[in-house]
Amino acid sequence: MAHEAIEYQTREGANWATIVTMIIFHVLSVVALFHFTWGALAVAVFLWWLTGSPGIGMGFHRLLTHRGYKTPKAVEYFLTVCGVMTLEGGPISWVATHRIHHAHTDHEGDPHTPRDGKWWSHMGWILTGTAQQYPDEVLQRYAPDLWKDPVHRWLNTYYYIPVIATGVILYALGGMPWLLWGLFLRTTYGLHATWLVNSATHLWGSRRFETTDDSRNSWWVALMTFGEGWHNNHHAQPVTAKHGLAWYELDMNWMGIRFLEMIGLATGVKRPKVTTANIEPQTTQIAA
Ligand SMILES: [Zn+2]
Ligand SMILES: [Zn+2]
Repeated sequence: MAHEAIEYQTREGANWATIVTMIIFHVLSVVALFHFTWGALAVAVFLWWLTGSPGIGMGFHRLLTHRGYKTPKAVEYFLTVCGVMTLEGGPISWVATHRIHHAHTDHEGDPHTPRDGKWWSHMGWILTGTAQQYPDEVLQRYAPDLWKDPVHRWLNTYYYIPVIATGVILYALGGMPWLLWGLFLRTTYGLHATWLVNSATHLWGSRRFETTDDSRNSWWVALMTFGEGWHNNHHAQPVTAKHGLAWYELDMNWMGIRFLEMIGLATGVKRPKVTTANIEPQTTQIAA
């Protein structure tokens, strides 16, 4: 069976700490709807962008996982703290999970392929077994670059501290509406947006590249994730910092990286070797 391929990941048993946390976040997201203020909405939208784009898209994914560009350590740490605020786990665990996903995409060993079930790929995989809690040897093997760094090690262990700090600051500044919208609803929305990259963009959408996996380009997931929905483009050329290839493929994470490059904070930016200018859609073969 596919789920026994990696012996360090257990898929048996309920992960109660995660289940209870997820129930709390989802229930309080509904409660938030009854505490609407325009200020709370504005704070939630700002934090959705800050944690989703600089945090996950530009930080965890394109910088830490794929090293699509280089940036000074201070910028790397700032992006990492933004990413940690999403409650998607510590940077080393996130990176290890995602590198394992790329190593085994939609085959045995992929932690969250829809071939093991749509619900599994979306949310089931974090509620079951060991999920992202890998033994140290696995983190060292898949993310040796981050493992060497004491700041990343600290953030990996105490990833919940920036989340709690955000909640305390929001409550102090704007009371319950800011806490409910800026932390609970924003985080829950952000989690589902990221999970849709694992579920929806391996199920629905168009394929520009005939990769060896099921990855797709999805405009609506791209809108929810600042450009991460161009996932077939990404699996075809994983290291490039630019995922939206056509002019209509809006990729705000790439725009953010371009901005960092223009002000001198991003260097060695890896650009796509294959673009829409030099391929015939649907026919190009690229090894994933
Ligand atoms: Zn994928
Ligand atoms: Zn990736």
